[in-house]
Amino acid sequence: MTYQHRAADGRELELPLGKVVCIGRNYADHALELNNPIPKEPILFIKPATSVVPMEQPFHVPVDKGAVHFETEMAVLIGETLRAANEQQAMHAIAGIGLGLDLTLREVQDQLKQKGQPWEKSKCFDGACPLSAFLSPASVNDLTDVQIRLTVNGEVRQDGNSAQMLTPVLKLLSYASHWFTLEPGDVVLTGTPAGVGPVQPGDQLRVELVDLLRVDTSVL
Ligand code: ZN
Repeated sequence: MTYQHRAADGRELELPLGKVVCIGRNYADHALELNNPIPKEPILFIKPATSVVPMEQPFHVPVDKGAVHFETEMAVLIGETLRAANEQQAMHAIAGIGLGLDLTLREVQDQLKQKGQPWEKSKCFDGACPLSAFLSPASVNDLTDVQIRLTVNGEVRQDGNSAQMLTPVLKLLSYASHWFTLEPGDVVLTGTPAGVGPVQPGDQLRVELVDLLRVDTSVL
């Protein structure tokens, strides 16, 4: 399925789709629910452009590789090159704020973790990263006070606030840019709050930045 970055008003954005940079365990209560230690430094990994699909359209998940978990995350669209950037440069480089689902083959990931192997097989499959349209950064008053909520089949499953991030957004962008370059069109997923769980074909999802952005979608 073709994907193009979009603004929340429906316009297509000029930015090309690049990589998706993700942070593991950026909310203490999520680290603890999976029996992981709280990291001293951000844990970074990357989902490829081929994993991205538009969140608004019903999407497929693998059905033959064990449980697929949802992880609902605030997504940051990068508009300018960031290399060893400070937080102010990071702020100016934000082109949009949206939503991402960091879909994860949890049993596969558990096996990879046990063996000390990289997580790609669990995190990078085609369709592993549904992304919403993006709000203009000016329409988000305070990046450190955004409520992130996922409702599955009418039941609230995740309900966290960006205030709970161990590494807040600007610090995260700066940190990542000291390890590798962020380019226009890249997306940074900022971690998931507690409450992760399985998704299955037929599930109806409502994904929200509360009072800012809402996506109703479903799993095929
Ligand atoms: Zn995640």
